[in-house]
Amino acid sequence: MNVRLPPSREEYLTPTHDHRGCVDRALRVAEQLCAQREVRLTPIRRKVLELIWESHRAVKAYDLLDRIKPFEQAAKPATVYRALEFLLEQKLIHRVESLNAFIGCNCSERRHEQLLLICERCGNVEERPGTEVMAAVASEVEEAGFKLHRKAIEIHGLCPHCVQPEAEA
Ligand SMILES: [Zn+2]
Ligand SMILES: [Zn+2]
Ligand SMILES: [Zn+2]
Repeated sequence: MNVRLPPSREEYLTPTHDHRGCVDRALRVAEQLCAQREVRLTPIRRKVLELIWESHRAVKAYDLLDRIKPFEQAAKPATVYRALEFLLEQKLIHRVESLNAFIGCNCSERRHEQLLLICERCGNVEERPGTEVMAAVASEVEEAGFKLHRKAIEIHGLCPHCVQPEAEA
């Protein structure tokens, strides 16, 4: 499978950004990966993934529940949570710990670390490969004799789009 890097920040924010393309791609990748892994992307799991991909902003579980109701009247919180667990396990989404919310992963096809840049104004979350940063963190942790289970770095600030008006003021 081809290795693709996440799209650049600029691509997210220009009016010409083809978000339908992001969603279609995410769903296509999810279908391929689930088929390969012989796990089921049930309609509810697929719908939850699609709803998370509505934008590049992080989504809270209870917002997902509201949004899924029109499609799945009978959807209970447990149904949504189970779908989220599945999507996390398959690494199709990431949990944004500092916001207690979720974003779609744009590079599920390859093993990768979790380095997220979170814009505090527009709420967009950009996923970065972060390979070097994460390798440095891993060696630091090893040096401390600490056994690593999971590492994720979340950085809060303003994205290039949101930082602009402030700079001009
Ligand atoms: Zn997009
Ligand atoms: Zn990812
Ligand atoms: Zn922003």
